[in-house]
Amino acid sequence: RIAAVDDRDEGVHAFLHVDASAALSAAALVDESLDAGTAPASPLAGVPLALKDVLTTSDMPTTVGSKILEGWRPPYDATVTARLRAAGIPILGKTNMDEFAMGSSTEYSAYGVTRNPWDLRRIPGGSGGGSAAALAAFEAPLAIGTDTGGSIRQPAAMTGTVGVKPTYGAVSRFGLVACASSLDQAGPCARTVLDTALLHEVIAGHDPMDSTSIDAPVPDVVEAARRGASGDLRGLRVGVVRELSGEGYQPGVRSTFEAALRQLEALGAELVEVSTPHFRYALAAYYLILPSEVSSNLARFDAMRYGLRVENGATSAEEVMALTREAGFGPEVKRRIILGTYALSSGYYDAYYGQAQKVRTLISRDFAAAFEQADVLVSPTAPTTAFPIGDKVDDPLAMYLNDLATIPTNLAGTTAMSVPSGLAPEDGLPTGLQIMAPALGEAVMYRVAAAYE
Ligand code: GLN
Repeated sequence: RIAAVDDRDEGVHAFLHVDASAALSAAALVDESLDAGTAPASPLAGVPLALKDVLTTSDMPTTVGSKILEGWRPPYDATVTARLRAAGIPILGKTNMDEFAMGSSTEYSAYGVTRNPWDLRRIPGGSGGGSAAALAAFEAPLAIGTDTGGSIRQPAAMTGTVGVKPTYGAVSRFGLVACASSLDQAGPCARTVLDTALLHEVIAGHDPMDSTSIDAPVPDVVEAARRGASGDLRGLRVGVVRELSGEGYQPGVRSTFEAALRQLEALGAELVEVSTPHFRYALAAYYLILPSEVSSNLARFDAMRYGLRVENGATSAEEVMALTREAGFGPEVKRRIILGTYALSSGYYDAYYGQAQKVRTLISRDFAAAFEQADVLVSPTAPTTAFPIGDKVDDPLAMYLNDLATIPTNLAGTTAMSVPSGLAPEDGLPTGLQIMAPALGEAVMYRVAAAYE
């Protein structure tokens, strides 16, 4: 397994850091407990996992894909990391990502691009391209991603893997280096729905260290996935979000989506058309709310507390900060800090941030109305299959359009996942079916995904 990672990762570059010895000793501990006849902590004990480099690890560096945190060793484990360890899941290493989780292709990493195992000339999606590529290249059977606007689901779609963005507050954000705190959510990734459900149960649940963590029982997603596997969806209503499958979607994405709808029908689900009129404003609202939170969250990288410090003859603290941030942040991160600072400036607050928050409420209402008519909603996960490296890297707007279908869920704080939906006929690359459910509606979502899979 470890040799496979070394071999395969040379072409793919899914990992920023591999810690074979820690993974091997964790696996050995599980072996010992099995030999001693004691039950392992979880059915996934001993199964190696690839961890997105945005979650802190006390025994490995955490860079968040940025030069500003190069070589930083966090003094503590994220709650997600701690839960993985407690379940006996060996952490094989940390995976590549767009800097501070801003991007849709992993090309904005300060440590080089990750390549899509389906075609090494193409991107694996982003920002969690490293985690998705590690799964698709069979370097690891389990991975963790984070999803602020689609960074778990879009890479899953583009690599033919499964990825879940849990309900906001379902998985602790303690130790998750913040991009946009009101949108960020860590979630499980794997190659099958059942594996994803097993991992979901390990990482979800209340955490007093995160004030936004939900204090409610974790939905029984493993049972739901097992039930779904019987392939019977009679009595379930599946809402088709037409706003998320028309213009701007690649023909093969549309045709695989239509085929998925036929399959859901064949499994007994009733298809209903739902209307979500405000989803068309989601992208615009997101790209005001996210940069606003980014401009505030990233103020902590001040050359004093963590990572990089550039002095270069500076004569004041301000100059050290400016030099450090100039050298440490990449262009996309700077662009968003500037956008957010502008949107939050006193004269513009109502026109931009205030307005975007109102749109956010309207999107939540669209979801609430749609979930009156349907148990889950479906759409394609991403408008296209994996695009060639370099295609969109200089065109931020083209890059942002990748997130059209995934962003509404983050704005509403609800849950959604991507499950492989076959290959697009024109390029033979994977597509994803997005299944969306209400807050804490993970069980029905997993059930539909497992039936469809
Ligand atoms: N691609 C989106 C962005 O650039 C989503 C990022 C994410 O989910 N972390 O903001």
